[in-house]
Amino acid sequence: MSSYWNDRVKKLDPYVPGEQPRDGQFIKLNTNENPYPPSPKVIEAIRKVLSDGPAMGDRLRLYPDPGCRELREAIAGRYAVKPDQVFAGNGSDEVLAFVFGAFFNSNTALPILFPDITYSFYPVYAGLWNIPFRTIPLTEDFSINSDDYLVPSGGVIFPNPNAPTGRTLPLRDILAVAGYQKKQNRVVVIDEAYAAFSGPAGDESAVPHIQEYPNLLTVHTFSKMGSLAGLRAGFAIGSEELIEGLCRVRDSFNSYPLDRLAQAGAAAAIRDTAYYDGITQKVIATRERTAAALITLGFRVIPSGANFLFVSSPKKTGPELFAALRERGILIRHFNKPRIVDFLRVSIGTDEDMDAFLKACGEIAFD
Ligand SMILES: *Cc1c(COP(=O)(O)O)cnc(C)c1O
Repeated sequence: MSSYWNDRVKKLDPYVPGEQPRDGQFIKLNTNENPYPPSPKVIEAIRKVLSDGPAMGDRLRLYPDPGCRELREAIAGRYAVKPDQVFAGNGSDEVLAFVFGAFFNSNTALPILFPDITYSFYPVYAGLWNIPFRTIPLTEDFSINSDDYLVPSGGVIFPNPNAPTGRTLPLRDILAVAGYQKKQNRVVVIDEAYAAFSGPAGDESAVPHIQEYPNLLTVHTFSKMGSLAGLRAGFAIGSEELIEGLCRVRDSFNSYPLDRLAQAGAAAAIRDTAYYDGITQKVIATRERTAAALITLGFRVIPSGANFLFVSSPKKTGPELFAALRERGILIRHFNKPRIVDFLRVSIGTDEDMDAFLKACGEIAFD
């Protein structure tokens, strides 16, 4: 604690991201990155930005388009919405930070609502902006009960599928929450970081309903499905008035959150649906195979619509399993939190990664 810090910074409780080891020795299943490379068209688009003009990198002299027009048009085309219903930001974490700043009030008796087990960045943003929040316990099997969110609030936010549980909430439940909160003039934010992996069970994305619910905002990232965690690009889709609210916060903070390379690369990614459908199907197939194998080993596996599994071992505690896997060169994520201390979140890697993980689990779980 430094005496130079202001009172706000002294009170912050910052998010701690998953470990990014510097050497490449680990099988990295701890931060939900995609195991497959991004589309070759992304690389081509980034190269084109760099080689445009009289000298290599000439375009980097100039500020990027603050409105991210090309990227927003590509996103709008892909989701059948208008460009003015799209906001682009420096990763969805930045978009989420702006969401808390734009739509949720501080100095109010009505707290915003999110689950007790969810993306651990939400309470951090609430702390940054001084927004009161109330967490609502997931049910015994880690489901969201949407009825819990049909109450007066300062707003609602959760991911669908939820993180780190992986469970998907049916679209009709989301719309029930959006409908109730619409009558209260509150914003409902659905963080769809993992929606692309919900797969054959049906698309539960709320995007097609933003017209009907002007208070409904969906948040998306290029990091997971798009294989571009290193590029830092995310976006939100919602009514024009919500998007304008986000722009007001952005333009009070940083007018150029997305650089030229990120804008061009992300636009190329969103257009290459064929490539991304292919790698997404591979991740889903590997997830299902891994889940079945873990169940055979006696693990408890929460049904997942994401690119990770939330599991607990029959014999070992969460910290024991985490440490034993790390010793064998496999990194996974453990959250030292009530209710989930014996669970581990395992990102889906390549088939070879998961074979190594399953082999280690077979050895560790019963020794
Ligand atoms: C990974 C993740 C994000 C952040 O994604 P970035 O675009 O990389 O910032 C946001 N929400 C959830 C639920 C996530 O798991």
